[in-house]
Amino acid sequence: MSNVPALTLNNGIPMPQLGFGVYQVPDEETPQVVATALEAGYRSFDTATLYGNEESTGRALAESGIPREELFVTTKLWNTDQGYDAALRAFDSSLESLGMDYVDLYLIHWPLPARDLYVETWRALEKVHAEGRARSIGVSNFQPAHLTRLTEETDVVPAVNQVELHPRLQQEELRAFDAGHGIATEAWSPLGRGNGVLDDPAVTGIAGKHGRTPAQVVLRWHLQLGNVVIPKSVTPARIRENIDVLGFELDEADQAALGALETGERVGPHPETFN
Ligand code: NAD
Repeated sequence: MSNVPALTLNNGIPMPQLGFGVYQVPDEETPQVVATALEAGYRSFDTATLYGNEESTGRALAESGIPREELFVTTKLWNTDQGYDAALRAFDSSLESLGMDYVDLYLIHWPLPARDLYVETWRALEKVHAEGRARSIGVSNFQPAHLTRLTEETDVVPAVNQVELHPRLQQEELRAFDAGHGIATEAWSPLGRGNGVLDDPAVTGIAGKHGRTPAQVVLRWHLQLGNVVIPKSVTPARIRENIDVLGFELDEADQAALGALETGERVGPHPETFN
């Protein structure tokens, strides 16, 4: 069993700093993949209505027999469900799919600034949070301007902002903004989806130095920066490898070498224009 450290969110609730993402895990493979992740020691799982596997993820978690309170389950509200009433309905539907009476974290998946519905959507999240059905609420892909509006116009400060973050896109400004407002930064595509980042000579060099794999080095870099990470893999050996990152430490020179890999390249859309 692993000993994944926890971050304390701004509402006092602990969140495992390393979890498992199930985006693009096919529904029929999800039970086996989630079972492998549980066996490897993951207790935090990141799904979304968009991923089409809330039901299979929830079922696999229930069938594991691990007490619900030992798990940390995140899901997200999809873009077509923004707006106060639609968001409340979407939340009920997610709980039903998951087969759970609460989630640990509920996120607005994208801000969609051109539609301008995220403030009223957030009020729906505040309601399900007040009811105790979402232990924590947060956002995903929010930029400082969107977070500023939420803090000015609503009551609850998001606990988490989940954004694309990896050595090619380090989000320094956004991370500083989140930290300054007590918001935990969670990295999606923490490995940059593997493309390029894991073959970079700086990464493979540091991996060789520590006798670790490139993925382990990149995940370790995130943890030492204070990011929450949710790597995804369907390959059992990689699932285990990605959580086996607690027994070594990168030194300052390693962190700096990884810090120099910023190129601004995204693997996903830009939150300001994605609609
Ligand atoms: P990731 O950076 O976790 O990369 C996953 C890919 O990297 C795998 O498909 C595999 O090809 C490769 N990989 C994984 N482990 C490896 C290893 N040990 N060695 C070599 N290659 C390895 O990217 P992701 O899946 O896009 O993101 C992770 C999670 O983030 C998702 O599952 C999802 O939960 C979340 N996510 C959220 C958003 C959002 O908008 N909020 C968007 C994308 C992803």
